[in-house]
Amino acid sequence: MIVPAFLVTHWFTSLFAQTFFVHRFASHRMFSMSRGWERFFHLLSCVSQGFSFLNPRAYALLHRMHHAYGDTAKDPHSPASFTNAAPMMLATFRRFNAIGHHRESLEPRLEGGYPRWPLLEKTGDHPLSMAFWAAFCLGFYCLVATSWWMWPLLPAHYLMGPIHGAMVNWCGHRYGYRNFDNRDQSRNTLLWDFLTMGELFQNNQHRNCTRANFAVRWYEVDPCYWIIRASRSWGAPIEA
Ligand SMILES: [Zn+2]
Ligand SMILES: [Zn+2]
Repeated sequence: MIVPAFLVTHWFTSLFAQTFFVHRFASHRMFSMSRGWERFFHLLSCVSQGFSFLNPRAYALLHRMHHAYGDTAKDPHSPASFTNAAPMMLATFRRFNAIGHHRESLEPRLEGGYPRWPLLEKTGDHPLSMAFWAAFCLGFYCLVATSWWMWPLLPAHYLMGPIHGAMVNWCGHRYGYRNFDNRDQSRNTLLWDFLTMGELFQNNQHRNCTRANFAVRWYEVDPCYWIIRASRSWGAPIEA
């Protein structure tokens, strides 16, 4: 059972880095933290995302564009513009790389406010780093995979970021219920979103993009928000 445990651990650490650090902190500045904690979570993002490292600047710029132009022709990843999630994520991947490598610049008003660590970002994005993570996951499976059915799980480690992105951006703007009319297609897909740690409350998030708690109704649960709240009680200098 080591392989499923490894997959679940990778799923949630990578997801936490995406929703807590790259989305809520880097893109929206929903809370603040000291420089030391910022570096810690930046490093955690790089390590936990591994092969599919998300450059916080590229993520923030593309994501702010998504909020500014939700489900219009200028939205970089609206399901309304694609036949299925695969071409949507491929187009997102190309633009993400273009922005991350400064081949494309977006509107100046979308810039700023995201954490920078050029050396770490360069390292996380480097082909050698990707080769290391690919070899690490393959080597780990060679050591601990004891049944044939475990091997089809391996590609999920390489595609972790795109899988999360496809779920949130496709399902969160296509399936579910709406609390607000945001003049877009955003939906809340789940009532208790433990699967993507709150990211599938897209309709609530598009209503108020600086609110740390993605849950709005009494019956909705956003796990990442409670981690942010708890971080204050254990002494981390993070303010919601
Ligand atoms: Zn959205
Ligand atoms: Zn957002």
